[in-house]
Amino acid sequence: MTSPNARNIQSSLFRLLPSVDEIVTRLKNDGANGSSDAALADAVRKAIGVNRQLLLEQMNQESPNAEENASLSEQTLRDIVLNEAKQILTSNKQLGLKKVINATGIVLHTNLGRAPLSEAARVALDEVAQGYSNLEFDLNLGQRGKRGSDVESLLCQLTGAEAALVVNNNAAAVMFAIHTMAHSAEVIVSRGELVEIGGSFRIPDIMRQSGAKLVEVGTTNKTRIFDYRNAITQDTALLLKAHTSNYRIVGFTEEVSRDELSDLSRETNVPTLEDLGSGSLLQIDGLPHEPTAIESIQAGIDVVTFSGDKLLGGPQAGIVVGKALWVEKMKKHPLMRILRLDKLTLAALEATLRSYLDPDAAHNQIPTLQMLSTKQEKLKKQAESLMNLMGEHACSVLGAKVEETTGMVGGGAMPLAKLDSYAVTLSPKIFSAKSLETKLRNATPPVVARIHEDKVILDLRCIREEEINQLGAILNEFAK
Ligand SMILES: *Cc1c(COP(=O)(O)O)cnc(C)c1O
Repeated sequence: MTSPNARNIQSSLFRLLPSVDEIVTRLKNDGANGSSDAALADAVRKAIGVNRQLLLEQMNQESPNAEENASLSEQTLRDIVLNEAKQILTSNKQLGLKKVINATGIVLHTNLGRAPLSEAARVALDEVAQGYSNLEFDLNLGQRGKRGSDVESLLCQLTGAEAALVVNNNAAAVMFAIHTMAHSAEVIVSRGELVEIGGSFRIPDIMRQSGAKLVEVGTTNKTRIFDYRNAITQDTALLLKAHTSNYRIVGFTEEVSRDELSDLSRETNVPTLEDLGSGSLLQIDGLPHEPTAIESIQAGIDVVTFSGDKLLGGPQAGIVVGKALWVEKMKKHPLMRILRLDKLTLAALEATLRSYLDPDAAHNQIPTLQMLSTKQEKLKKQAESLMNLMGEHACSVLGAKVEETTGMVGGGAMPLAKLDSYAVTLSPKIFSAKSLETKLRNATPPVVARIHEDKVILDLRCIREEEINQLGAILNEFAK
């Protein structure tokens, strides 16, 4: 593919790159103390690698100035590598896990930490983190108390359940519930609900790991109550309903409602478990209806599980609500100790749940609910204020425009719901969309954006007011 001429230009360009030793020496002369020789050399190798890649990209853009690039001053390139290495060394000293600006428009972005916490949750977490707490101490009786008891009573109050329990995440909750309710026995699941959540969480695998035997019934698109009924044997221990959170079967379909399943359960004495996935506690303005834990409990489902950091808008946790008979059995199980929550999560979860005691307060205080219901008009205004912050020069250099876009709920919730939004789109004149996206990821704070049709899309939905200022400053810097 590469023509001999291009190859020549390439190798002459690469010859301009400095040696590792040379830059390490310059770093030391510039007083790069505090880093070992190995760390210095490592940073320089990375810096050279980045610049080799940039040189290659420039060549491949078959720009008419390939020759011009070849004449890129050797001295400039050395300085660029040196500065890059310095930046790498600085960032090596920073925390690895850090805040980023989410410009993807995906509200519950699993890779970006799902739900941001409410102020109330952050204050509660901070207070408990600073010192001692009554984590397992009953202040009324002056003796050992139960971890998580406040969260459990709030959950009962909010869902109408007899009992509640919290564990590390919803994956753990599902597995733990199946293990407790159906170890060495059969579990009936519809073929339409054999969901894979992501990674290695697939219902059939979870079933095997929980020591239960999966009995599939119905077909991918249609399952009826008699399919469940016909599959019940002496070995059946559980009827499972799983939320098809990240996919939808559309067209000629039929699924068994939780009411029907519950009726069958009462008739046959086989208990029910429902994995809600996201499990919202209220209806969110402008979004499709999502089954709530309250509805499941009302329908008489024995055990219901959902995530703490999806639509609920709290910290990572797995929430279990349902009949005391089963929940108490789980609480006494030896696995409970492995799955229990730490004090920081409990503090944040309790504060999040307290907001739900008043649904209006929940909408106003919980960032996930706020972001999901932000009106498109408001997002347009925010996009315009980002443009204003950038100013004319930066807008022109970066090819900035305010455009309509669509985001997603994320976290495997409501896969078909499109969130109508506004974005500032960038099609820069001075570098490719891809390299702008890379620069954004490496900014302080890092900005995660997506590329669509060769433009960088900055969706405003998940960007907080104060972050708009930071983003404006970062973009101005790039346009210099
Ligand atoms: C997200 C999800 C899970 C896993 O929940 P985590 O809190 O991420 O562990 C399980 N089941 C369903 C249906 C889900 O949507």
